[in-house]
Amino acid sequence: MQIPIYNPKPQYEALRSELEQAATDLLASGAYVLGPTVEAFEQAVAEHLGCRHAIGVNSGTDALLIALVAAGVEPGDEVVTSPFTFYASAEVISLAGATPRFADIDPDTFNVTAETLEAACTERTKALLPVHIFGQGPDMAAVNELARRRGLQVIEDVAQAFGARQGDARLGTLGDLGAHSFYPTKNLGGFGDGGMITTNNDQLAAQCRLLRLHGQERRDHHTQVGYNSRLDAMQAALLHVKLPHVDGWNAQRREIAALYDRALAGLPGLTTPHTAPHGDHIYHQYTVRIADGRRDAVRDTLQAAGIGCMVYYSVPVHRQPVYEHLQAHCPVAEQACHEVLSLPMWPYMGEERAHQVAEAVRQAVQQA
Ligand SMILES: *Cc1c(COP(=O)(O)O)cnc(C)c1O
Repeated sequence: MQIPIYNPKPQYEALRSELEQAATDLLASGAYVLGPTVEAFEQAVAEHLGCRHAIGVNSGTDALLIALVAAGVEPGDEVVTSPFTFYASAEVISLAGATPRFADIDPDTFNVTAETLEAACTERTKALLPVHIFGQGPDMAAVNELARRRGLQVIEDVAQAFGARQGDARLGTLGDLGAHSFYPTKNLGGFGDGGMITTNNDQLAAQCRLLRLHGQERRDHHTQVGYNSRLDAMQAALLHVKLPHVDGWNAQRREIAALYDRALAGLPGLTTPHTAPHGDHIYHQYTVRIADGRRDAVRDTLQAAGIGCMVYYSVPVHRQPVYEHLQAHCPVAEQACHEVLSLPMWPYMGEERAHQVAEAVRQAVQQA
């Protein structure tokens, strides 16, 4: 049995002729960076997510960095984020010249909360950078209320939650700016790197557009030091084909999650994921907790059986060598790093494979 943790190929197979047509048309168009293909995709993303502006960039990392700089984050500032995330969420704060501060997470959802964010704020805090980890976000109404009260900008890291809703709105449109990633393994995955910034603020959108293109206001006229962070037209053309399908793929992920939930319910020592009442969970990862120091044994057993489970994340960001000097105290995130295990999760995975995974997990946990 070989069941990978993620497999992008069935999405390609399902849309093969449309994708190949889009690629061929793009090759023939002669316009390969930004231009009308990228503008059309930006428009489609803005409509899909329900916001005024979408700005295509090179990657999710660049989307975060440019959003922070556009929001006015500068050297001397602090930005509060999660320690339980991919390293880039904090790295961009340092790249903007500011200092990351880490807010501990809620043990059930793995997300920061308005309370933990506030506990990490100081008078130097300029912005909050909540990460919608594994496919669900913190209560954004509470995060926005904190931001309003303290005069802070909110930049959402939506890299793992494209299309997830809270109430009537989609994540990435609730804060001041949202940063999305189209890395191939993400819920809307491209065929290479890509990213997108979303906002309802006209001025912030204009600033992001300037920054992604060398601070160039018009030809031969540079008003700022910016970046080379343009979205490739090939990625935009292919992602545009996939965009109408992402809600359906997220629904498939939820069905697999519901199957896992049922099949793993009541297994002693294992905790299935918790869905917060304030919004969708779109299961970028289906992540269980395995208590009592048995996680690594379970992982090894499953991997030996051909089941591609992974530990996201084995080291919290505040414990990375580069940030250890900040001496952040986040015991809940540290505990999570010892217990989490992400199971195979991908659209078109099918019920049979999911049952096989759940059965193997049951056996591995009972043996460990
Ligand atoms: C993937 C990811 C990023 C970075 O996106 P890239 O497109 O790989 O640069 C940032 N934050 C989180 C939470 C991610 O999962």
